Amino acid sequence: MRISYSGLEAFSNCPARYKFQYIERIKAPKSKEVIFGTLVHDCLKMFHEPSQSTPVSEEDLLKYFTEKWNSDIYQDKQEEAFAFHQGIEILKKYYLQNQGIDFNIVNLEIPFEVPILEEELHQITGRIDRIDKLEDGTFEIIDYKTSKKMPSQEDINRNFQLSIYYLGVINRWPSLQKQNRPIKLSLHYLRHNEKLSTIQTNKKIKETKQKILSIIDEIKKSSFEPKMNPLCDWCQYQPYCPLFKHKFIKEQSPALDEQEIKDVIKEYFEIKSEQGAETKRLSELKEIINQYCDKNKIDRVFGDNGYITRLSQQRFAYNFNKVKEILEPINKWDQILTIDKVKFKKVVDSLPYDLKKQIDEAKTLEREFKVMTMKANKREK
Ligand code: SF4
Repeated sequence: MRISYSGLEAFSNCPARYKFQYIERIKAPKSKEVIFGTLVHDCLKMFHEPSQSTPVSEEDLLKYFTEKWNSDIYQDKQEEAFAFHQGIEILKKYYLQNQGIDFNIVNLEIPFEVPILEEELHQITGRIDRIDKLEDGTFEIIDYKTSKKMPSQEDINRNFQLSIYYLGVINRWPSLQKQNRPIKLSLHYLRHNEKLSTIQTNKKIKETKQKILSIIDEIKKSSFEPKMNPLCDWCQYQPYCPLFKHKFIKEQSPALDEQEIKDVIKEYFEIKSEQGAETKRLSELKEIINQYCDKNKIDRVFGDNGYITRLSQQRFAYNFNKVKEILEPINKWDQILTIDKVKFKKVVDSLPYDLKKQIDEAKTLEREFKVMTMKANKREK
């Protein structure tokens, strides 16, 4: 399989999105966040790789940004002005911090391929924003981020994207691996002007490759179900996604049964909300009855339409080591063992790739069912 880091990430976030983008290759318009990020990346490339021999001034940089700015992608003037201001701020800060520094930039926007041979040959591809060679001879991989949120150092230490980029670099220069030279991996958060770094060596190669192979295995077996995730709000495939498609069908071609389903949904919400109010009132009534019983030292109260009894219930926890000692010699222990699925998943996730694969092959589909959840629209003020 030939797959990019972005493909692996897309599948991990949502298999349906991966299918729309990488299998069906549906051309969806790029989101404004992606267009904004690409423009900022282009500006930084131009800053570090000027077309002329003279260094790029701040004015040149901002002019380049302004000329390439696309105002059509924003909903209104206010949104556009905010985004434009953010772009200018990012570039000004970057310029201030980096002007006059004689970086030893090895290359910019470097495509890479990582072959992984396991039953078949897989090629993992990607593009690294920038590789520098530092004064002490260490190579530094830098990826620019225009996202608002900055991860923790722990997240950076185990960042999958950087680990794949590491594989890309040692595949490009195998001597780095032979000499086990550490490589610095950095994510530069441009909005905050912060670079978060970690150091990686040969040690993590196996783990990264196993993770890649696990995802490839999952892709091969996947039925590409949609998976709700925090990126759904920005997903350009919503018109094709079973979880969002209905919103678009409604807007584009109102069918005859649309009013009917609208009424059903309305009634569903009304009943649920009444149920909620009733459940709350029931708890309040229970509390009043409990207090009355406590006060009068009774466990049954009579009303005009029946009576209510309260019963003491006790739950016990067993010392299973002792229980095991008793049941095992009489061959009854195995009969009560069940697998704790949450713990089981945790253990499986921590296993090496080949064991994980064997366990995965022992899996059969027990039953499939749909669960219904509900979310009310925000009330308009
Ligand atoms: S909207 Fe969300 S669930 Fe649907 S395809 Fe996109 S990411 Fe997946």
